[in-house]
Amino acid sequence: MITLHDLPLPTGSLAGGALFLDRDGTLNFDRHYVSDPAGIELIPGVADALRSARALGLRLFLHTNQSGIARGLFQLADVERCNARLEELLGLPRPVFDAICVAPEGPDDPQVYRKPSSRFIRECVARHHLNPARCWMVGDRESDLESGRLAGIGTAAVCTGKHDAVAWRQLLPAGTPIWPSLKELVAALAVEAGSHHA
Ligand SMILES: [Mg+2]
Repeated sequence: MITLHDLPLPTGSLAGGALFLDRDGTLNFDRHYVSDPAGIELIPGVADALRSARALGLRLFLHTNQSGIARGLFQLADVERCNARLEELLGLPRPVFDAICVAPEGPDDPQVYRKPSSRFIRECVARHHLNPARCWMVGDRESDLESGRLAGIGTAAVCTGKHDAVAWRQLLPAGTPIWPSLKELVAALAVEAGSHHA
């Protein structure tokens, strides 16, 4: 399920780029099949990071696997209420995201948008004429990074969910950057963007 918004074209040093963001464990703490908006709690620094990313000219996309729908644990409407609560907590001009993709499939179902599928990213890159060299998929699980890798964009592992830095190092090729949280990633992008324009 995809919700699209036609937000104005961002301007900034990373214009033409985007962050594809996992939800649980990346933006909000992973409460394991959260279905009640009251269970959405932002990871510290995330709101400021997304505000900075927008200021850099990056579009923002939300891509969340919600197999709880296929498992009958909750409905799409519950996920949408949680997403609305997330946007409310972020406190940024709404809509925050240019598009939201909720993948409802279970692990054993035919995969359409469920990560590691790269379909959502590829469709967004084409629709918004994004520069893949300025796009990153950010997430706390291997399937997040795999979707970015398959789509030909950058990947960024964060340690706010499934894996800590020690676990990530064992899973990822040596030298792959691992970020404590989204905050440090966006700060590094800002420094890099600034140095190219100095
Ligand atoms: Mg996650």
